[in-house]
Amino acid sequence: MFPDVRRDFPLLTRTVRNGKPLVYLDSGATSQKPHAVLNAEADFYQFHNGAVARGAHLLAEEATDAFETARSEVAAFIGAPADELVWTPGATQALNLVANGFAAASDGLGGLEARRFALGEGDEIVVTEAEHHANLIPWQQLAARTGATLRWIGLGDDGTLRYEELESVITERTRIVAFTHVSNVTGVVTDVAAIVARARSVGAITVLDACQSVPHLPVSVANLGVDFAAFSAHKMLGPTGVGALWGRKDLLDALPPSIYGGSAIKIVTMEETTWLDAPQRFEPGTQPVAQAVGMAAAARYLGGLGMDAVAAHEAHLAAILREGVSEIPGVRLIGPVSAPLGVLGIAAVAVDGVHPHDVGQVLDDRGIAVRVGHHCAQPLHRRLGLTGSTRASGHVYTSEDDVRAFLEVLATVPSFFGVTV
Ligand code: PMP
Repeated sequence: MFPDVRRDFPLLTRTVRNGKPLVYLDSGATSQKPHAVLNAEADFYQFHNGAVARGAHLLAEEATDAFETARSEVAAFIGAPADELVWTPGATQALNLVANGFAAASDGLGGLEARRFALGEGDEIVVTEAEHHANLIPWQQLAARTGATLRWIGLGDDGTLRYEELESVITERTRIVAFTHVSNVTGVVTDVAAIVARARSVGAITVLDACQSVPHLPVSVANLGVDFAAFSAHKMLGPTGVGALWGRKDLLDALPPSIYGGSAIKIVTMEETTWLDAPQRFEPGTQPVAQAVGMAAAARYLGGLGMDAVAAHEAHLAAILREGVSEIPGVRLIGPVSAPLGVLGIAAVAVDGVHPHDVGQVLDDRGIAVRVGHHCAQPLHRRLGLTGSTRASGHVYTSEDDVRAFLEVLATVPSFFGVTV
């Protein structure tokens, strides 16, 4: 049995909409925070606050220690060494950092060592039709800037990737393959090994959007065999404003930076600049130190629960949620009920004849918080003939009761709007 951790999360004790207990099922958008994370951030500000990597005083030293210890802990959480982890404001910025590094190299920046990242006409970038916009638009823009072509692995009618297209879409011309580890709409876990094997066989660099996997599954970037991975603290019980880009050290040291400023440099003259090695070359400006400390506390908290146990809890919730949804007349589950490598605690649904916003309102009225709209995955919805959906998504604090409350109210939605099923 997974432990009941609800009491660790102060926000979950509040009530909503005229005293109703809160059923929080919007963790795919952002998760709630345990005391351990809130206290770690408060402790940093109360006792150790200072700017990192500069200043000769004790607080600057303590802040730098806290920042670098946090880096080691978050890196270890994904099975990586500390010098391969770059702090970013979030996954979106991490993915942009990689795409913009390729763009800078394509413009001739970064010297000889950056040439491996230079793209031009005839080169291809591959994504999937399931991507969150954060892992689609940066690659579209990179293609537009460099003359490269964007291609994608399509989705079947059930909303899962058409792996049979791997061979024809990923070819000798492919330079980058960027794809999500877990869909933020269907919750389906991607067969990373299959995609990496094909990408490697043609010498392409792989970029993994690990936003919806690192918070819910044991993730080892070394075992996955990808080249870059991006994730955000706020979806893994940590604070907003911080996330990480992980990259293989040889790639990070060669990728040109694309955000410029203080602290990331070796020597600056009026004519030119030389950069520090990674990760510092990607971290100009004042860093989000308290947030990094909070992210490390979140990793410790999740590690304490055990990521295998977290994943099993999420799979259990997903099964109840998805089977339950698939049995409600007039409600369509987006994606399959189950999948070969698993489905996490998410269910996005479309209710026949009812707009997702109206579904969300009925649920909210009963104290149930869900996400409505396209969830930043318009192509996936369009492929399935939808403009949006209503998404319930859980985390470690989500209980079977939460899931059942959602299913119970969802079942009333068609008749509430006079839709006959
Ligand atoms: N990728 C996926 C799969 C996501 O679910 C999200 C957040 N919804 C992102 C990327 C972007 O993350 P962030 O907003 O934290 O940068």
